[in-house]
Amino acid sequence: MLEQPPAKKLIGRLAPSPTGAQHVGNARTYLLAWLSIRSRGGRVILRIEDIDSPRVKAGAAQQAIDDLRWLGLDWDEGPDVGGPHAPYVQTDRIDSYREALSHLQHARVYPCTCTRSDIEAAASAPHVEHEGSIYPGTCAGRSAIDAVKLGDQPFAWRFRTTDRDRDFEDRVAGPQRANVRRDLGDFVVGKMDGSPAYQLAVVCDDHAMRVTEVLRGDDLLPSTFRQLEIYDALGWSPPTFAHVPLVIGTDGRRLAKRHGDTRLATLRQQGVAAEKLVGWLAWSCGLRPTREPIAAKELLADFDLCRVTREPFVLSPNSIG
Ligand code: GLU
Ligand code: ZN
Repeated sequence: MLEQPPAKKLIGRLAPSPTGAQHVGNARTYLLAWLSIRSRGGRVILRIEDIDSPRVKAGAAQQAIDDLRWLGLDWDEGPDVGGPHAPYVQTDRIDSYREALSHLQHARVYPCTCTRSDIEAAASAPHVEHEGSIYPGTCAGRSAIDAVKLGDQPFAWRFRTTDRDRDFEDRVAGPQRANVRRDLGDFVVGKMDGSPAYQLAVVCDDHAMRVTEVLRGDDLLPSTFRQLEIYDALGWSPPTFAHVPLVIGTDGRRLAKRHGDTRLATLRQQGVAAEKLVGWLAWSCGLRPTREPIAAKELLADFDLCRVTREPFVLSPNSIG
């Protein structure tokens, strides 16, 4: 009899950035990421994405951990529980990003001396309103070896994208296609101060941690094309992707401070039960017909990503209580 290859273990991740408090929009995405993996018996990793040092807030990483635990989510690997792919904090993984960058220097990156805001912003994931304009290719004539000729002039490492249609199948958003050079442009992988950019760090970590499914907000759909370029350039195989709709305000913009205080820490302090929020979140995603309070683990039994609403959820003021 032919031996069956062992089924690939499903591994997902929760990847909060401690650049501020986590709010109900983040909670919805974490809940779905957790349900998608746990409902199929997979492993969950918690990773703290703290490389955007100027924006990282003291105590925000611990607060994110407390928020996630309060929601009723758990993980098999993470900064607080350890695991085979430690460390789970990006600022402790800088060497691995440097190593990946040195591989890319053989062919795929060039030094960019433009003092553009996208270089400054590159340490964080470019959520919708931060996509910025397409890089015009000012420094694209250079190759990596030209860096030595720049002397003291500061430069960033910019990734040379490919000029061809790239496709992938998103588990929620469906088939996706873009020409990365034309539609998105060359992007920053290493900042002027020598620190890594989000696009590089996230690929290195998802690869090193053997992540098989990335589930995140659909404002990061364009970034997936950039990340697929990096996977290809490094000869790594990418995970599957699932991009879920966001919670937005009545102004149509991604949930933020301007929409009122929806921080999980505030809800916790107010004594709101996690089940109440989870019930509300499950209803907002189309997983439950009513807002009836429910524990996260009670959603596992009949969870199906196909049932998640494809439309963003509009949060009107004071609608959670
Ligand atoms: N740490 C990122 C954020 O919170 C998540 C990026 C990702 O899931 O790839 O914005
Ligand atoms: Zn440039």
